[in-house]
Amino acid sequence: MRIFEEMAKYGHEQVHFLQHRGTGLKGIVAIHDTTLGPALGGCRMRPYETEEEALFDVLRLSRGMTYKCGVVDVDNGGGKAVLIGDPNQDKSPELFRVFGRYVQGLGGRFYTGTDMGTTPQDFVHAKRESSCFVGLPVEYGGSGNTAVPTALGVFEAIKATAMWLWGSTELTGRRFAVQGVGKVGALVVQHLVEAGGAVYVTDVSQPNLDAVVTATPGEQLLGVVGPEEIYGLDVDVFVPCALGAILNDETIYELRCAAVVGSANNQLLDMEKHGAMLAERGILYAPDYLANAGGLIQVADELQGYVPERVLAKTKAIYDMLLQVYAFSAEREIPTWLAADRLVEQRIEQVKDLKAVWVQKAR
Ligand code: NAD
Repeated sequence: MRIFEEMAKYGHEQVHFLQHRGTGLKGIVAIHDTTLGPALGGCRMRPYETEEEALFDVLRLSRGMTYKCGVVDVDNGGGKAVLIGDPNQDKSPELFRVFGRYVQGLGGRFYTGTDMGTTPQDFVHAKRESSCFVGLPVEYGGSGNTAVPTALGVFEAIKATAMWLWGSTELTGRRFAVQGVGKVGALVVQHLVEAGGAVYVTDVSQPNLDAVVTATPGEQLLGVVGPEEIYGLDVDVFVPCALGAILNDETIYELRCAAVVGSANNQLLDMEKHGAMLAERGILYAPDYLANAGGLIQVADELQGYVPERVLAKTKAIYDMLLQVYAFSAEREIPTWLAADRLVEQRIEQVKDLKAVWVQKAR
């Protein structure tokens, strides 16, 4: 891979390669854009088969974080770290401590926390060496379960979608198909049911399904269906809260909903192609990185001294931001995912411009 060419293609600022012989640490930190503030993004651990694969992942994910931070107006840019290794075999407290030292060495340009393959407990070790870690367990100063604000954000996004489509946030009698009732999905079901909605649910985990069935009043539980049946149900909103890439050539033709709004990351297998397919079928798509930004809002808040009320207010603002995205998409006749990207790019330009005003450097 031609590294500078790849960095230039999407405008990455900095890429660091980390190697520590004693602990076996091998990793890459990518900082995409710090116009809005220090880069923020999770640290993923995976047994990447090649170095190119790891580099490609960290470049793609760090760029995504610039958009995710920008769309919900947190003062952070986009970054990401990947550790090359098997999370079940290659972890040690020392590996995370040395990772902490490397991150500290970046001088506050990059903050990180959990992602696929890493846990809050891993970063308890890293935090001993660095002040640049977020999302730790509560007893170590973290802000707690991010599924709570994430689910609230999805619920706000569903209300905004209802307002856009039907002119009211009233959800009584509306029907939802929820794919995945894990940490986020179960809480989304709870919000929908409390608001008077009725749900179909699916999951591959029987204990997770049992918990939701027990917690949901019978008349609001339309059914528990198999994983393949969830797409073709006659509902108002399909709510993906499990896997990525579930909006693809096969599933989009099955959908019989008016909108897709969920927490899953990277829902469109191919942004351009499948975003366009949804639009052609008249299905409104809430960009995933906005609908699921509640968790990011919470961890970003830790950097300012976590205030739960501020997290709540910023998460509720997903409602207004999504309406802006829908309006911009309609006005420009562009897909909603692209409208969200364009709004973030405008914001970055505005912030660049205001930062052109000279101020005395802090000492
Ligand atoms: P989770 O692991 O707790 O829940 C996922 C659920 O999906 C599990 O119950 C799992 O059994 C189920 N599932 C897996 N494969 C399935 C399939 N084929 N069909 C139906 N169900 C299936 O994860 P979570 O934290 O609830 O996150 C859900 C999604 O939201 C993920 O895509 C995650 O990346 C995204 N997300 C989560 C957060 C957060 O704060 N937790 C934040 C942003 C985005």
